[in-house]
Amino acid sequence: MEKFAVDKNGFYGEFGGAYIPEILYDNVEALKNSYLEVIKDPTFQEEYNSLLRDYVGRPSPLYLAKRMSEKYGCKLYLKREDLNHTGSHKINNAIGQILLARRMGKTRIIAETGAGQHGVATATVCALMNMQCIVYMGKTDVERQKLNVQKMEMLGATVVPVTSGNMTLKDATNEAIRDWCSNPSDTYYVIGSTVGPHPYPDMVAHLQSVISEEIRKQLLEKEGRETPDYVMACVGGGSNAAGTIFHFIDEPDVKIVLSEAAGKGLDSGLSAATIHLGKLGIIHGSKTLIMQSEDGQIEEPYSISAGLDYPGIGPMHAHLAKTGRSQVLAVTDDEAMAAAFEITKLEGIIPAIESAHALGALAKMKFKKDDVVVLCLSGRGDKDMETYIAAFENN
Ligand SMILES: *Cc1c(COP(=O)(O)O)cnc(C)c1O
Repeated sequence: MEKFAVDKNGFYGEFGGAYIPEILYDNVEALKNSYLEVIKDPTFQEEYNSLLRDYVGRPSPLYLAKRMSEKYGCKLYLKREDLNHTGSHKINNAIGQILLARRMGKTRIIAETGAGQHGVATATVCALMNMQCIVYMGKTDVERQKLNVQKMEMLGATVVPVTSGNMTLKDATNEAIRDWCSNPSDTYYVIGSTVGPHPYPDMVAHLQSVISEEIRKQLLEKEGRETPDYVMACVGGGSNAAGTIFHFIDEPDVKIVLSEAAGKGLDSGLSAATIHLGKLGIIHGSKTLIMQSEDGQIEEPYSISAGLDYPGIGPMHAHLAKTGRSQVLAVTDDEAMAAAFEITKLEGIIPAIESAHALGALAKMKFKKDDVVVLCLSGRGDKDMETYIAAFENN
């Protein structure tokens, strides 16, 4: 059988690794040598799990969506990460990494953010744990995600607008890495997805794996078996997808169907469909698929969803797709918007526009009536109301 876990050098097949400036070598090495030991330590687990339960509100419900099930001819369960404190799965990771940072004696937390969900989650946990918090955010995103910027500031974080490049997530990440290089001894960099140098992708996957751990228990209760026929999720960098599939990866009977953002269409030149269109390269410390031109220049991605608008992809997802373990579908802006309005109408749930990309894949599938399908609803739609209202007014 294929091996899907990371190897000791941080590779998933040909993807991954740790391509970092020398100044960060000691930091990344310390993290690499301690993360598994720390997150498996019983005292860490106790602290982490009690915060997940009492602060985040876990376990998140596994909800049988009856009207959507009827529409798509299957038994569709929604894993409700949208009900978490701060509105998405990002808080699971932020809590875990900041607990880890505290154990490593770090006093200063930095993070990058795109739409602002990871920034808000990080600022929230920093308030809770009384840590200094600096969030790098592209100036374009600062302007289009005002509410999240105001939340971070109210929570006591410093938001630094980044004016290089396209002024979005990629540029914010570059700036966070630059900060880390200047302050390697007291600073911990909280990465928000399964991207970056080893051990981040594997660490973030572990911290999000609570999602599939809960799914197994909840399915056993509801269906009398721990494994579904399908698991589905959207992929930006890949963290909610990694958490959703983590405890199913080595069970080939569980089919993995992921959605990436096709933007205006795969051939339009305006998309963020990295697995379909990307080529091998190195970005933010990791060898993976990247949207790039013939001569290796990174191409600016586009998606209606800020959380999927990243030119790279987590190395584990590049590997899962390449080996055929996962099927990756490209879902356009229009398909995601239609899916968002459909679930709102049928189930009374307004999803994050990222999660709507996972929902948009349902129409491309052919299920059998008794197939059990679990789809990760990664976040709620509050932050996307302006986008939804604009579409609403045009129809
Ligand atoms: C950030 C975000 C995503 C994309 O990130 P992943 O690491 O791929 O999960 C998806 N959904 C929501 C709600 C997000 O906030």
